Amino acid sequence: MLTCGCGRWMHTEGIEEQVCEGGVPQWFVRSECRGCGLRVGVDVPAGQVGGLVDRLMWTDEALHRLDRMPPYLAALVRQEAEEWARARDARVITYDSLLRPPSDERIEWEPEAERRLGKVPPAVRAMAKIELERTAVERGMNVVTVSLMEEVKAKYFGMGAQRT
Ligand SMILES: [Zn+2]
Repeated sequence: MLTCGCGRWMHTEGIEEQVCEGGVPQWFVRSECRGCGLRVGVDVPAGQVGGLVDRLMWTDEALHRLDRMPPYLAALVRQEAEEWARARDARVITYDSLLRPPSDERIEWEPEAERRLGKVPPAVRAMAKIELERTAVERGMNVVTVSLMEEVKAKYFGMGAQRT
C-alpha cells in the first residue's frame, strides 16, 4: 500500500495498460490521497502491482471494452471476470482477461453445437463461445454439447429453449 506524505493510505484510482519503448507492456497505476488530495502515478511492469493496488480494479481499457458491450452481456461479463479474478487472487482485470478462455484445456464442440453457434448473432458469438466453454470446464466436461447450449442460453441469454 502507498502511504501519502500526510500519513493516510493512498487509494487506487485507475490503471492504464500501456506499451513502453521496446514493446514491453506496462501499467500506469494512478493513486490519490482522499485526505489531502495528492495524486501520484507509478509505472510498473504489467502484472507486477505488488501492494500498489488496494482492491479489485479494472484497467481503463477493460472498462472501455465492457462499456461497448450490450448491457445484459456487460453485466454477465463483469460478474464472470470478477469471480475469475477473486478465484485467482488477482487484483487487476485487463482488456485481454475479459475474453480469456477459462483454462488452457482444449474444449471440443459437438458438430451440431458448433452449427448452432454459427447462427448466434456475431455481436454476442464470441462471448457465447467463452461462456459455454467456461461452463463446460466448471462441470468437468471437455466438450460443448447441444444440451449444455440450451441450458446456458436459457439462463444467460433469456431466449428460452427453441422449438424444433
Ligand atoms: Zn495525503
